[in-house]
Amino acid sequence: MTKLSHERSKALFEEAQQFIPGGVNSPVRAFRGVGGTPVFIAKAKGPYLWDVDGNRYTDFVMSWGPLVLGHAPEAVVRAVQAQAELGTSYGAPTELETRLARKVTELMPGVEMLRFVNSGTEATMSALRLARAFTKRDKIVKFSGHYHGHGDMLLVQAGSGVATLGLPDSPGVPRGAAQDTLTLPFNDLGALEELFARFPEQIAAVILEPVAGNMGLVRPKAGYLEGLRRLTREHGTLLIFDEVMTGFRVALGGAQGHYAVEPDLTTLGKVIGGGLPVGAYGGRREIMQWVAPAGPMYQAGTLSGNPLAMAAGLATLEEWSRPGVFEAAAEAARTLVEGIAKLARQAGIPLQTDQAGTMFGFFFTEEPVSDYASAKTSDVQRYAKFFHAALEHGVYLAPSQFEAGFTSAAHTPEVVAQALEGLEGAFRSVADS
Ligand code: PMP
Repeated sequence: MTKLSHERSKALFEEAQQFIPGGVNSPVRAFRGVGGTPVFIAKAKGPYLWDVDGNRYTDFVMSWGPLVLGHAPEAVVRAVQAQAELGTSYGAPTELETRLARKVTELMPGVEMLRFVNSGTEATMSALRLARAFTKRDKIVKFSGHYHGHGDMLLVQAGSGVATLGLPDSPGVPRGAAQDTLTLPFNDLGALEELFARFPEQIAAVILEPVAGNMGLVRPKAGYLEGLRRLTREHGTLLIFDEVMTGFRVALGGAQGHYAVEPDLTTLGKVIGGGLPVGAYGGRREIMQWVAPAGPMYQAGTLSGNPLAMAAGLATLEEWSRPGVFEAAAEAARTLVEGIAKLARQAGIPLQTDQAGTMFGFFFTEEPVSDYASAKTSDVQRYAKFFHAALEHGVYLAPSQFEAGFTSAAHTPEVVAQALEGLEGAFRSVADS
């Protein structure tokens, strides 16, 4: 096989590094987790990306989740074009915001009201401020390996199996901002029970990815989410599902719909903007009424509820919630993961695979994965090799072992079958090495 050329990407990456730290505007894009040069994208359509050297890839990253309909779906392109003609931002209310808010409340069982923001980071920061305001408590609990954006209080190092008082995970995060963040292992109810005993009536909120997608894909154990719901309720603590990634993807109603567990607050992002910058936080009416100007908790945004983003989000959710559309994309993820598991078996490579709706993941380890510690047993060097081999075979996977993969409505059975052919070659090359 002739090797793909990446000359133009390499040149653009060199140039980008002169003006942008690391050449990228979000760290994982720089391929540090897998080595090599990131491919620079020229255009995309449906399930495909084209890089600046003219190579085509079947995309299983989909902008890290938002593009449930595939790239540049007609309905979304049309909606954005039509709105752009009418203006790109007003800083005043529009009907579009209410229409999208209504649509989200119809789909998400735990969301009665919501507030739009511009990113997932903003959504989690705001939801936690609201939880603290509402409960009049300061401490929050998160789980190791769960990512909730880059807010100071959420950039906190994971504990080693026991609850630890938060230590900042990045220089520049003041101790004070992290000291009320308690970190626990995922999928361990006993650990949370102990924490409640240690900090009675001090914990404002427990925030988690109900299906974790930022340490690879890791699902909750049977009964775990129900247990979190019971414990938080008993202790007057708010339960926050960060569904920025899982919302509309694990099921149309998110992980909360799929597992039938209603959180007090939900954070959303990605899908609700249809590929434009959006986030949202929402939940029970009684709590959301605390948000200014209805209530005393301040939170605002010049571009919040931006009409282009609202139009894209609305067009996306309308199409995505049509009967059969989600199911077909979930079937694509199932077929892909079953195919990957089979290829790994044939190549004699130990692999853990999993799928939740239209999200999927796999780890190069013999150990079942249920939390961050077990996720980290994956052979990341093998993943890096596999990633590059897949790229050479025209399949674009996440440039890090600790990320989920995504399918969309554009991933038809033919597209998946073709991608599996490419991945067969990729498995062969990692088995040989
Ligand atoms: N929460 C989760 C679960 C996420 O996956 C992400 C982004 N990957 C965020 C929050 C942060 O969202 P954003 O990058 O839009 O700030």
